[in-house]
Amino acid sequence: MNILLTASEVTPFAKTGGLADVAGALPGELRRLGHDVRIFMPLYRCIKKREFNLRPVEELPPIAVGGVNRTGKVWQGHLHGVPVYFLEQDDFFDREGLYGTSRNDYPDNAERFGYLARALLTALPRIGFRPDILHLNDWQTGLVPALLRSDWAGDSFYGDTATLTTIHNLGYQGLFPAETVSSLKLDPALFAMEGLEYYGQVSFLKSGLVFADLLTTVSETYCAEIQTPQMGHGFDGILRSRSDRLFGVLNGIDAQLWDPRNDTALPACYDADDLAGKRQNKRRLQMELGLQCDADKPLVAMVTRLAGQKGLDLVEQAWDGLLKRGVQMAILGSGDQDFMDRFAALGVQSPEQAAVRLGFDDGLARLIYAGSDMFLMPSRYEPCGLGQLIALRYGSVPVVRKTGGLADTVFDPTDEADRANGFTFSEISASAMLEALDRALVLYRDSEGWLRLLRNGMQGDFSWRRSALRYLELYRKAVELHHA
Ligand code: ADP
Repeated sequence: MNILLTASEVTPFAKTGGLADVAGALPGELRRLGHDVRIFMPLYRCIKKREFNLRPVEELPPIAVGGVNRTGKVWQGHLHGVPVYFLEQDDFFDREGLYGTSRNDYPDNAERFGYLARALLTALPRIGFRPDILHLNDWQTGLVPALLRSDWAGDSFYGDTATLTTIHNLGYQGLFPAETVSSLKLDPALFAMEGLEYYGQVSFLKSGLVFADLLTTVSETYCAEIQTPQMGHGFDGILRSRSDRLFGVLNGIDAQLWDPRNDTALPACYDADDLAGKRQNKRRLQMELGLQCDADKPLVAMVTRLAGQKGLDLVEQAWDGLLKRGVQMAILGSGDQDFMDRFAALGVQSPEQAAVRLGFDDGLARLIYAGSDMFLMPSRYEPCGLGQLIALRYGSVPVVRKTGGLADTVFDPTDEADRANGFTFSEISASAMLEALDRALVLYRDSEGWLRLLRNGMQGDFSWRRSALRYLELYRKAVELHHA
């Protein structure tokens, strides 16, 4: 099959969260299964042409966006044999952030990602790659199916191209003012309730949900949750109306990229049979963060975007209780300025017991996964969550709220003695979180029981192979539906 995956972030080129990890890992797995898969993404400032050996492949004709004719250029690189096309348009993408600053989104995001969608459809015939399936991800690429139904309707190049939209996070809907229709020169007929209009605004995500042949999201539980009014962010009705075309496919993690046996960012490697290296990593982590060097103190970690979704308010409420329990806290996060300020303030209170580091730091994240004993994710909602999967692999026992993908991957001993690999709680409250943590702390003191649980986690299979096979099945189904 010819598969084109487009996303606004792809590891290792640009990343703010799990979407990048998925977009960076799935194509390689599809290629190993024998398919011609390619990636299309923006060329942001953080992507250095020299570092990734990019070469120019196509100059694009001017595309009118926001009343200005924008020229663009496509560069090509590779990711484990998968061709990656980078869209260069410096007014839009040569910026410090991907979507904005820590305080605000960029005001012209509709134009930036509207341009991305048009440029993609303009570029593919010139490159000569005709996809059987266009795999879109989240709101940033959501406009593509609407354009295929309007400006590109009847275009013979795309006549056989089916579309599949993956929802990585329904909380981000790409909502913009109604004037976006004219500034992006969208067909006015699209601005309707059955189209991309959402309460008087334009939603890029809605375009992806309404017009794609098939929809997926990143876990079974989240797939069910987003069809309820409580967790549907206002889109549950639309999703229920397409429920026969909506499927949950759990993300994997890139088993080579995330491997404690072979992680060059770590001072010591280790595996489930020999955890001596893990103890060294803990010591290094404690030193690096200025925490008291004590092998016996349970070290509880978080590596997270600082956003409301992540249940950070529970951690703030529980803060004194956490410290009273004698655990050490290691938090690495970046995101909303408000949260950054509040967590920075918590971090200076007891520097030998709790460290907060702000910023995006892959190396430190790895040391935290490897050096911590427990990994906290009290998310209000969590489509799949990769943090807990990486933590499992690195022998940091997850303590998580039972929601979305967390519910599908972390199993509590009280629910499932044999499969247990972590601790879960259901209620959104600091006390429920502390109750789960207390159960973890009790087991932590029972070294045999703890090791059993930890090894269960390290040996679990969250590789991409299974998910990639499922995506292929769904790609085929999308093609069938497209021709029906
Ligand atoms: P989300 O996509 O909602 O941010 P996930 O758990 O699915 O959450 O994915 C988060 C990914 O981003 C993980 O790979 C995690 O290690 C990484 N990550 C998050 N915050 C940081 C940070 N501040 N520094 C380094 N890596 C981070």
